[in-house]
Amino acid sequence: MPNPLFDALFAPMEGQARPLMHLPDGTVLSAAEFHAMTARLANALRAVGVATGARVVVQAAKTPQMLALYGASVASGAVFLPLNTGYTAEEVAYFLADSDACLLLVDPERREVMAPLAARLGIRLETLGEGGSLDALASDCAPGFAPATRAPDDLAALLYTSGTTGRSKGAMMSHDNLLSNARTLVELWRFTSQDVLLHALPIFHTHGLFVACNVVFLSGAQMIFQPRFDLDAVIAALPRATAMMGVPTFYTRLLADPRLSRELVGHMRLFISGSAPLLSETHMAWQARTGQAILERYGMTETNMLTSNPCDGPRRPGTVGPPLPDVALRITDPESGAPLPEGQTGMIEVRGPNVFQGYWQMPEKTAAEFREDGFFITGDLGRIDAEGYVQIVGRAKDLIISGGFNVYPKEVELVLDEMPGVLESAVIGVPHPDFGEAVLAVLAPTGAGPDLAAIGSAMRERLARYKQPKGYVLLPELPRNTMGKVQKAGLRARYRDHFTR
Ligand code: AMP
Repeated sequence: MPNPLFDALFAPMEGQARPLMHLPDGTVLSAAEFHAMTARLANALRAVGVATGARVVVQAAKTPQMLALYGASVASGAVFLPLNTGYTAEEVAYFLADSDACLLLVDPERREVMAPLAARLGIRLETLGEGGSLDALASDCAPGFAPATRAPDDLAALLYTSGTTGRSKGAMMSHDNLLSNARTLVELWRFTSQDVLLHALPIFHTHGLFVACNVVFLSGAQMIFQPRFDLDAVIAALPRATAMMGVPTFYTRLLADPRLSRELVGHMRLFISGSAPLLSETHMAWQARTGQAILERYGMTETNMLTSNPCDGPRRPGTVGPPLPDVALRITDPESGAPLPEGQTGMIEVRGPNVFQGYWQMPEKTAAEFREDGFFITGDLGRIDAEGYVQIVGRAKDLIISGGFNVYPKEVELVLDEMPGVLESAVIGVPHPDFGEAVLAVLAPTGAGPDLAAIGSAMRERLARYKQPKGYVLLPELPRNTMGKVQKAGLRARYRDHFTR
């Protein structure tokens, strides 16, 4: 009976003694052991009454069990719904109710905190990981499982968007959405059974879960599975790895460490970055120090991966590369939706087998974000250059309209980032009595810090007046979420009264 995702990713591991996961305590989990863990958990899910199509919610530490639960959910025909481990109980309550979940899994030590919530919502609660109740049940189950039959368009996962504004929305991912993208990436990034991926990303997000793990599973590669990004642990593991996937902060933190050298990464064939913009400066510093060019790619929860710099061929700093082979990508006028000529900045719209099935129980929201011809409106602004490389300018909702003129924050940030004493910058629009909105620059200093008078005059030389920041604030560091994204909504709220008080 077919189960497209399970058949491609998990079933081939059965009985294979080859190493799959290198764990922090030095033990190695073979593909066969991981497969058996998955099958036992699938039996346990069935035993607690998880039916085909039911939502299985998990908020748990990054362990092999948590990853095996992904395979088990897919095998049992359920919909896997991982949650950020940073969410509070009340936040979890929203996801449980919105997704109409049947089961919640948490770390054993969180049982007490979550029990009243699960009881209130009438949702079964089990624990996962060392000493977990589901693990206990699984250990009594058989290590074999006949996967539920699923069609390519059936749901495999529901991933809630990080939702920096408004309600977080559940992106419905089908078997084929995930599998088609994994196939494309394995081929494009040349993953084989010879690869060892250094995995230090969280597995509740598309990057660490689907991009990283699906690529490893599909290619028969191994991974060094680390619970989080820990500089010492990553540096210790680099000589044993062939590839790493990271957010830009991984790279800036490594660059700040004197142990990063050409020799340390001599065994690596591929460094990949995504989920947030990688500064050209970081790309260049990395290349100078290690001799390797970071491959930057772009994607989002709703669409999986969309573009990638090439494995062979130039990896252009400040760009996310051309669209993937099976992705159609166009730039349109954000208002009218009309396609724009090459080189112009506008809304990025995409279509392909990787693009999700819509937002869970939000037909109107879904309809509003798709064009009639099936293109999804990403909400990202960007442009395509003559060579077909895509450049991301920022989120449309971060666009600033000052005195009627459009200001793309990225353009201003690039100038600010070059200034002495500026480590990095975030440019936001905040209410202004005259201009409606005005440009405010938030600067993270380095060394002796920036000379604001010098910055002001550089801005006057290089940018049109309406783009020049009308104010500057200094913060020791820019606020970021776990995926390394600068939290601009938080900055806008914090400095809302900057020009009006
Ligand atoms: P998420 O759904 O959490 O994966 O966030 C997706 C968003 O992250 C995209 O819509 C982009 O705004 C941003 N993003 C992802 N990769 C990149 C990248 N390489 N450069 C710039 N922004 C990126």
